[in-house]
Amino acid sequence: MDEPTACERPPIACDHPIHTPAQQPKRSMSGPAKARCTGLTERNTQWPTRRPFTHFCLALGFGLAACLAVSTAAATDAANAATSATATAAASVAAAASTAATASKPATAPASTAASATRETKTATAQRAPDAPCRDWIVRLPNVSRNLCERAAVQTSAGRSIGGRQLYTRDVQAPDSRLRVLVVAAMHGDELSSASVALHWLGMALQEPPAAMPHPVHWRFVPVLNPDGLLSRPPRRTNARGVDLNRNFPTPNWAREAPLYWHKRTGNDPRRFPGRTPLSEPESQFLHAQMMDFAPHLIVSIHAPYGVLDFDGPSVPPSRLGRLYLDQVGIFPGSLGNYGGVHKGVPVVTVELPAAHKTPSEAEMAQMWVDLLRWTAERISPEGRALGR
Ligand SMILES: [Zn+2]
Repeated sequence: MDEPTACERPPIACDHPIHTPAQQPKRSMSGPAKARCTGLTERNTQWPTRRPFTHFCLALGFGLAACLAVSTAAATDAANAATSATATAAASVAAAASTAATASKPATAPASTAASATRETKTATAQRAPDAPCRDWIVRLPNVSRNLCERAAVQTSAGRSIGGRQLYTRDVQAPDSRLRVLVVAAMHGDELSSASVALHWLGMALQEPPAAMPHPVHWRFVPVLNPDGLLSRPPRRTNARGVDLNRNFPTPNWAREAPLYWHKRTGNDPRRFPGRTPLSEPESQFLHAQMMDFAPHLIVSIHAPYGVLDFDGPSVPPSRLGRLYLDQVGIFPGSLGNYGGVHKGVPVVTVELPAAHKTPSEAEMAQMWVDLLRWTAERISPEGRALGR
């Protein structure tokens, strides 16, 4: 790359984020975020050794024999370990969901219905991509096989990038779902791993039995919001017109705050140019339209490479997803979290993966997924506020 891969948050966070009077100041930096401001750049691309399955399993309340069986399988074969982790994760979600369902749902919702539910995919309103992007994606994205990409079966949308590239979505909808979750990745084109994780999670969403959530979920994935940046050589954070899409959302006072922030706080950093006007870019317009039309109760935005978890909006934030811990570091004019979470009141979970060019392990991605499902089951309700409706 001609410039270091970096997400927007840490460097600007080090420059003191703006807080408007209407916004709740976030807690001061500590741990990883603080370390970043002391001169560290991209974190180690290796994840620490994964904790034993046995501990994780026991922590979830499973029986010792079952946990040892899973642990043995994990130690025997790495590939099997990933599968076991997914299965264990799914089982734990089912258990958590069952518990939550027992506590919160009327008895008229039989567990057997959820357990036997199969995933449905929306195909009526979207065509299978004629120029399916897998050829490009598997070359560019880390840890994305042709099989994984093709199983994702992304679909064309009405959206195109400023460079004319197709924007893709994929809906995974459980029967009777009323809870909508929007997952977006590669808003910054040089954060390659974010798109990879989105595709892996999409594959997990297609599996049973996460349909056994207390509220079945309708997922919408946008694996690559910024294809021009992702496919440029080298990959670029901004879109083809040089706009940081995560500064282009219409937060209040954008016209005053966003350019001022860019000038004063970033020193006119071209990687963080917010654009001339809010929603000036077709990619941000596309995501905004998804937010209005799909009306998600929760938005999950995947970035890299700072290895933390951020949160904006109502509800109690998740304390961790896998090995990513909550570390809220700032609010920025024009960011998706600021717009969706602070000003529209819809929870926005921002996942900052620990590396831009390497995904976490299969087991770690599975654990992040199950932690996301567990928190969603506990905290997000279809009766909660949704965008656009
Ligand atoms: Zn980013």
